[in-house]
Amino acid sequence: MFCIVQYLCIPVGELSTNCYLIYDEHRQGVAVDPGGDFELIIDTINKNKLHIIHVLLTHVHFDHILAVQEVMDATGADLLVPKEDEPALRDPQLSLFSFAQNRAMIYLKADRLLDDGDEITAGSLAFRVLHTPGHTPGSCCFICGDLLISGDTLFAGSMGRTDFPGGNNRIMRRSLDRLTRLEGVNTVLPGHGPSTTMQVERESNPYLNISGYDFNY
Ligand SMILES: [Zn+2]
Repeated sequence: MFCIVQYLCIPVGELSTNCYLIYDEHRQGVAVDPGGDFELIIDTINKNKLHIIHVLLTHVHFDHILAVQEVMDATGADLLVPKEDEPALRDPQLSLFSFAQNRAMIYLKADRLLDDGDEITAGSLAFRVLHTPGHTPGSCCFICGDLLISGDTLFAGSMGRTDFPGGNNRIMRRSLDRLTRLEGVNTVLPGHGPSTTMQVERESNPYLNISGYDFNY
């Protein structure tokens, strides 16, 4: 089916988390990781006349979820959460709320839990779920057309931290290895920092340059 994928990136909150609004030719779509500055996100949704059907989370860390409830209330969207990060919705250690000064825990309830290989539809868009643990146990990437929404798994020139509760460096390398083998992905939209392309990352990201990498590390 022919469809046009469009997106807007809104850096939000004190950690400049990238909230993405991804939508089709009828302006139907999803909000990924609304991590703060809810007025800015809702204003952008309204100005662009977007109909947000789902809120998708790449993982459950406080800086990716702070504006979830407000965006859901304003749009009527439901909340889709990686299955293995669901416990973090109730745990301030796992969600890092306990590390964030002056932040009261926000309790959210998932409408649907996401697993590897799941498909999410929004208007004419289809998102494929890739479970890519390492930054958190449940971390997921989403593929829509030739876009890879990479959360805190893959950044331009870098990878996400693995030293938070539930993080695992060895498992992260395996997830990154899986990303390098993806076909048909062009643009990469990370959870923080600039967008990039899979080709550039394959050529220059030291964490993807796995030739000779010892997985027993
Ligand atoms: Zn994170």
